[in-house]
Amino acid sequence: MKKVLRYFVIGAIILTLLIGTAIGQTITSTIEVVYNSVNLTVNGQKINADNILYNGTTYVPLRAVAEALDKEVGWNQETKTATINDKAETVKVIRVVDGDTLVVNFQGREEKVRLIGIDTPESVHPDASKNVEEGKIASNFTKDKLEGKEIELEFDVQERDQYGRLLAYVYLDGVMFNKTLLAEGYAQVSTYPPNVKYVEEFTETQRTARENNKGLWNEENFNNEVVLEVKTSGNYVGSLNSDKYHKPSCRYAKNIESYNEIWFDTTDEAQNAGYTACGVCKP
Ligand SMILES: [Zn+2]
Repeated sequence: MKKVLRYFVIGAIILTLLIGTAIGQTITSTIEVVYNSVNLTVNGQKINADNILYNGTTYVPLRAVAEALDKEVGWNQETKTATINDKAETVKVIRVVDGDTLVVNFQGREEKVRLIGIDTPESVHPDASKNVEEGKIASNFTKDKLEGKEIELEFDVQERDQYGRLLAYVYLDGVMFNKTLLAEGYAQVSTYPPNVKYVEEFTETQRTARENNKGLWNEENFNNEVVLEVKTSGNYVGSLNSDKYHKPSCRYAKNIESYNEIWFDTTDEAQNAGYTACGVCKP
């Protein structure tokens, strides 16, 4: 019984730590756990967590909750660590539209997938003047790597955008391709709240690619044109880590690390990017 109780306590602690970050941000759920007496409800629905030890498997409340929310649970016996992940969807790439957009076979249907957190230059924009050579290079890179392949999709907070496209982090052989595009310099970071799961990693990867003149950051490859322009000034500023935008004079604006800054010329531009006005500086 002691052992059971210990798992229970561990489970409850991890539950507190993880549910908030892993699940709380994706779904508005109320989770109540009363441990010792095993009382578990998710969104008011009682979850049966009585069978703590079953067929040699230890079920902790974490598992019961996560499974009730259709999440995948991993348990590392050595480190006594539980992980909660969204279930990965394995899909086949039917074709590559451009550097950051694919058509895949998803649950028996053809679906468009937009790789999130990044942006590659345009290559198939209906307005031909927006299409650039660099866009074709990025597009060919994605075609070479992904066309016809089996990939895994991981979602962030929003599963689809306003055009109905799936928004995903795409994995090829266990490596995230969104990040590969950044590392090779074929894309730049373009993250909109609330889909910001990997923003810090992405920003860091982009910085390294830029420092090493990878791909499109190597201006010499492209007649000294600056092909990826990151706005470094404007009338309003936000952070890649938050969803607020500020006047540059705001004390919160001054706390934003320069590599996390995202600049806007107008309040409309900020709001279209998913940012809301700071309540202190009232931009
Ligand atoms: Zn402010």
